[in-house]
Amino acid sequence: MKKIAIIGGGIIGMTLANYIDTTQYEVILFDSQKNQATQASAGIISPWLSKRRNKKWYQLAKDGAAFFEQLVRDFDLPAEVYEQCGTLFLRELDELERLKKLALERKKEAPEIGEVQLLSPEETVDFFPLLKELPSLYISGGARLDGKSYLEHLKRRAIARGVKFVTEEASLRRVGEYWGIESVSENIEVKELVLCAGPALKNLLSSIDYETDVRPQKGQLLSFETTFDTGNWPVAFLDGEADLIPFQKGKILLGATHENEAGWDLKPTQAAFEQLTQGVERFVRESSFIKGNVQYRVGTRAYTSDFAPFFGPIMNEKGLIVACGLGSSGLTVGPYIAYLLAQHLNHPEEVWEVSKYQKEMANYVIKKKDNQ
Ligand SMILES: Cc1cc2nc3c(=O)[nH]c(=O)nc-3n(C[C@H](O)[C@H](O)[C@H](O)COP(=O)(O)OP(=O)(O)OC[C@H]3O[C@@H](n4cnc5c(N)ncnc54)[C@H](O)[C@@H]3O)c2cc1C
Repeated sequence: MKKIAIIGGGIIGMTLANYIDTTQYEVILFDSQKNQATQASAGIISPWLSKRRNKKWYQLAKDGAAFFEQLVRDFDLPAEVYEQCGTLFLRELDELERLKKLALERKKEAPEIGEVQLLSPEETVDFFPLLKELPSLYISGGARLDGKSYLEHLKRRAIARGVKFVTEEASLRRVGEYWGIESVSENIEVKELVLCAGPALKNLLSSIDYETDVRPQKGQLLSFETTFDTGNWPVAFLDGEADLIPFQKGKILLGATHENEAGWDLKPTQAAFEQLTQGVERFVRESSFIKGNVQYRVGTRAYTSDFAPFFGPIMNEKGLIVACGLGSSGLTVGPYIAYLLAQHLNHPEEVWEVSKYQKEMANYVIKKKDNQ
């Protein structure tokens, strides 16, 4: 039996721990539970109308969204964790017409977009009773994933498969051609290692003499418990940074901020509250919920200079795999990336070929330090 360590128990690490073949591998997962993005996230799965022009990113996000059908089946995800509730886009009418055209065009390659419908102001309110009478575009394939519940659900399954969890910070060192991992209670050597530690990947790789083009970005969102019957409301993409993400039992998330200068800081701020609540006010007819009991969620996203994820084996190293840089769309692409990595580990004889999803990692995001 080969021993494999995973450092990082966010959406990538936890999904991977459930797809790795445990008849081939003994799996140990280290997670420090610091600054985690997955637990803090908003949970929107709806990449098709993004303004981003990066074609490789779009291919990955499109395939990542399509992968959810299999993910739900493989892990029996209940509606509290994942629900295809649809998405609404609120924009000026001419912009909605443009988005509708784009959605119908993209649907040819991404049938999971589902139904595409321009809604009248009255219909918008029927779909999402909190909103003002404004025109909108509805896409039935959009979904929401509760990151925290997803991790809890998958952790239970991973434990049942024999995965060992160590809730401690791990450090890394080379042991000959292989890897030594140390935490407060563990000191192990492995031939196979996966690093999916969010922006902390930079420090881990630095300890084995790599420079990595990854930086932290703070994200804050607000969570309101309301008495509305939110059960089947869609996610609403408002114009600007504030989106409304209704979950079951009256919970509504409002977010999220993208703060590039805040580093690893996790403090909730009044400025974020104001930015998000002001952003939503012109779209909602009933804003009393904003004055109710609010909880903040704060997490740290990992960004690269070209805002695109990178994942796979590091060239010229034995048994070292990384996955990082998921940015704002990590819930959308994370499970699929983990699945691809698990296929690679479970079938090492097959060629690793994912160039349609990313640029070559070497000399782009990960470089050997000059002194090597
Ligand atoms: C506010 C907010 C809203 C978001 N909304 C959305 C959204 O609507 N849709 C979407 O698709 N994406 C969204 N995202 C992005 C998404 O959440 C992330 O891209 C994704 O969760 C990243 O997953 P990950 O597994 O790479 O990293 P993380 O979830 O950050 O997990 C990394 C883990 O590694 C651990 N770790 C780090 N270093 C060590 C170490 N040395 N030893 C042990 N453990 C270590 C950390 O403690 C952490 O638990 C949002 C993010 C934020 C912050």
